[in-house]
Amino acid sequence: MQIEKDKVVSIEYTLTDPKGNVIDTSKGRAPLPYLHGAHNIIPGLESALEGKNTGDELTVTIAPEQGYGLRNEQMVQTVARDRFQGVTDIKPGMQFQANTSQGRRPVTIVAADDKTVKVDANHPLAGMTLKFDVKIIDVRDASAEEKEHGHVHGPEGHQH
Ligand SMILES: [Zn+2]
Repeated sequence: MQIEKDKVVSIEYTLTDPKGNVIDTSKGRAPLPYLHGAHNIIPGLESALEGKNTGDELTVTIAPEQGYGLRNEQMVQTVARDRFQGVTDIKPGMQFQANTSQGRRPVTIVAADDKTVKVDANHPLAGMTLKFDVKIIDVRDASAEEKEHGHVHGPEGHQH
């Protein structure tokens, strides 16, 4: 079946950064299902899959603008260490949920000392060119309920 709006598509994928490091993969897990045309996945990947068929394999290189967006340096901020009360050990690379001007989202610790913590609220993949190796495992019609909700339901029906 061909991929178009309102199809549920299941893909196997491996995502690598420009240096070839694997960032994420479905290997060892079930294929990832998504509802095509509902912005469940990043725009560059969704548009590359449009019109493809079950069994197709493709490699897609996606610029940041069509991926997780460009980095915004105003989203890197230094905050007081006492904002992290109860956390004894803060190290670069750690992630926390924080309330930001863009709502509740994960922030990554860039640096920390006794008084201040530098946090980055950009998506970890913002500003990065992404390479996806994708295999299309299954394409099916979405149910009326899935279309209404804008996402995929599991094989046993409604699961949330
Ligand atoms: Zn639902």
